[in-house]
Amino acid sequence: MLQDLEFGYLDNQYHPAQPQDGDIVICVQGKNMLMHRAEDDTLSLPTWGQVKHWCGDWDQWFEEPTQYAFTMQEQRYFLFMGKAGQCPDGWFTYENATALRPQTSRNIYFAMMTAWHLYTWYRVNRFCGACGEKTVHDGKERMMRCTSCGNMIFPRIAPAVIIGLTHGDKLMLSTYAGRDTKRYGLLAGFIEIGETAEEAVAREVMEEVGLKVKNIRYYKSQPWGVAGNLSIGYFCDLDGDDTVHLDENELSSAEWFPRNEIPYEDEGISLTGEMIRIFQEGKEPK
Ligand SMILES: [Zn+2]
Repeated sequence: MLQDLEFGYLDNQYHPAQPQDGDIVICVQGKNMLMHRAEDDTLSLPTWGQVKHWCGDWDQWFEEPTQYAFTMQEQRYFLFMGKAGQCPDGWFTYENATALRPQTSRNIYFAMMTAWHLYTWYRVNRFCGACGEKTVHDGKERMMRCTSCGNMIFPRIAPAVIIGLTHGDKLMLSTYAGRDTKRYGLLAGFIEIGETAEEAVAREVMEEVGLKVKNIRYYKSQPWGVAGNLSIGYFCDLDGDDTVHLDENELSSAEWFPRNEIPYEDEGISLTGEMIRIFQEGKEPK
C-alpha cells in the first residue's frame, strides 16, 4: 500500500523549525498543489530555496509563513501557509494531486497526501471554534491553542471502515452512485460518534446492501490524507440471506463475485486494492 515506504516510515513528530533552502515546501492553491511532473509521471516538489522569492504573499493568516510538517527519508517537508503564487518560468505548476497516477512516485505521493491532510487541518483551525478568537501553535506539540479561552485543537483524523464482505468463495464489490468512475470497490463508510469500528461495519453493510454479517475480523489500517481519513479494513462473513437491497443513494451496484472472476487489479496504493487482491489469492484472514 501507499504508506509502505521503501525506506521505512514517515517521522511526523512536531518540531518548531524554520525551512532551509534544501527543505521541500508544499504550496497549495485551492485544491491544487505545486509540483513538477515529468512525462513518465515522476513527481518532484519544490524546495524552499527554489520558491521562497516568489511562492506568494504571506498574508498574516498565521504567525509564520511556513509550518514544519514532517521528515521523510531525511528530507524535511514544510507547508507554505500563505496565498501561493505562480512559478515564473513554469517549471513547477499547480495540479490536482488527487487526480494523479502515483505509481512512479509513491513516496512523494504519500508525502503529498499527508501534507495535504496537515495543511487543511491548519487552514481550518486559524480561529477558535468555541469563541472565535485567533489560535496560535503550541511550542512543543502539534496543537493549536486559542489565545482567549485556551481551547486546545489537536489534529483531526476521521476513521472509516473498509469492508471485505465474503460469502463462501465470493466477495461483494460495489460501485458508487453519482461518480464518473465505475471502478469497483468495497463497501465503506465513516464511523459514527458512539459506535465501535465493528459496529460501523455491521451498520454500513445493513444500510448499503441490506445484509447481516458475522465473524467481523480486523485486517489492516491505512492513513488516507487526501480525505483526512484513517481507513480501517475488516473482513466479515454474510449471515443469512444473500439478497441485496441496494441503497441507490450511495451505490449504483453491489454484486457477489466468485474469487477467480473478480474484475480488479491491485495498483499497490489503497487498502481496498490490497484487500481485494488478498481475497483473489485466497489469503484473507478467516
Ligand atoms: Zn477560544
